[in-house]
Amino acid sequence: MQNHATSAGMDNTIIFNTCAVTAEAQRQARQAIRKAKRNNPEANIIVTGCAAQVDAQSFASMEEVNLVLGNEEKLQAQSYQSADFGLSGQEKVRVNDIMSVTQTAPQLIEGFGDRSRAFVQIQNGCDHRCTFCIIPFGRGNSRSVPAGEVITQINRLVENGYKEVVLTGVDITAYGTDLPGNLSLGKLVQKLLKNAPDLARLRLSSIDSVEADDALIDAIANEQRLMPHIHLSLQAGDDMVLKRMKRRHLRQQSVDFCRQMKQARKDIVFGADLIAGFPTETDEMFENTLSLVDECDLTYLHVFPYSPRPGTPAARMPQVNGRIIRDRASRLRAAGANRLENFLQGQTGTICSALTETETTARSEHFAPIDLAAEGLPGTIVNVKITGTANGKLHGTVQGEMAP
Ligand code: SF4
Repeated sequence: MQNHATSAGMDNTIIFNTCAVTAEAQRQARQAIRKAKRNNPEANIIVTGCAAQVDAQSFASMEEVNLVLGNEEKLQAQSYQSADFGLSGQEKVRVNDIMSVTQTAPQLIEGFGDRSRAFVQIQNGCDHRCTFCIIPFGRGNSRSVPAGEVITQINRLVENGYKEVVLTGVDITAYGTDLPGNLSLGKLVQKLLKNAPDLARLRLSSIDSVEADDALIDAIANEQRLMPHIHLSLQAGDDMVLKRMKRRHLRQQSVDFCRQMKQARKDIVFGADLIAGFPTETDEMFENTLSLVDECDLTYLHVFPYSPRPGTPAARMPQVNGRIIRDRASRLRAAGANRLENFLQGQTGTICSALTETETTARSEHFAPIDLAAEGLPGTIVNVKITGTANGKLHGTVQGEMAP
């Protein structure tokens, strides 16, 4: 987006790439737009992303906003070349039906500014319709980036100095079902590790464990360049809630998956998304989700207090009282903080391989944040002696740069 805007000669333009996953994300986007305009009254403002895709009109009606682009339009050079910042109301909206999009437009990216980690999108959209989720209406149906393009992109980033790549998408375990050649996420991972031999670290974003294929499990077990940190889209630990969410797994399957993964790779750590206070959730149902934190040995929790998204089936189900939702969310967060602290303390005294993010911070292979005692060069892989923990982070001293 930045390249397209720059090539189109735009200056003093701010692009807001919004999120629609919760009502709160959308509220924050509006707040940030107003603040940006106050601080820079001469700037032109473009709003795009999922919130713009699902609710274009509400952004077009903001006087601070000059143009609203859909998720497909934001990636097209033409949208920036033909931009007119003098329009009003409905005329500002350039948003097409995202459900009509069947391919991902490959975008060859050279770098990520001063970030030390690169992100490569391998898939977009989702064919599922979980009852709480607005994402498919922002992103459309599932479509995959052909493997050859993923490999070209990764090798380009490696040439540009990136040591770690994260594979991203909305439903990455659905990878390949729309492509010829019987591809899957696991097969893609194996293929790209083979064809990008100089890539030091590969990381996966969130996966749906019931969709994990044998090749993926094999890769997690045997590919040391695939990082031992998996984020799981679990959402709940109660079968009735999972059914009402229209998820495709049961509680026991999550527990079994985590056990199987631990057997395959002993040091693996899990993150997970969990929703607190889904409609109709009773105390007993909530306890089943809470106990999943220990049973699945989850280290990093993303806890979402349930908020209804207009137009989704769950928004029409009997809602849980807001105070109870907040209370359950804080109990889940406390359980997560506890487990994270246990994990971090277990790292004290070890030497770990870490990617430096800034001169004084790094992340371990397990994605644990590390504060470094002395300054180093961002974007390098170093050995760090872990000396202690504080405030949910490791503390450590760099021992030396690792051979790639
Ligand atoms: S699988 Fe994920 S993105 Fe797709 S509908 Fe469900 S929660 Fe939303």
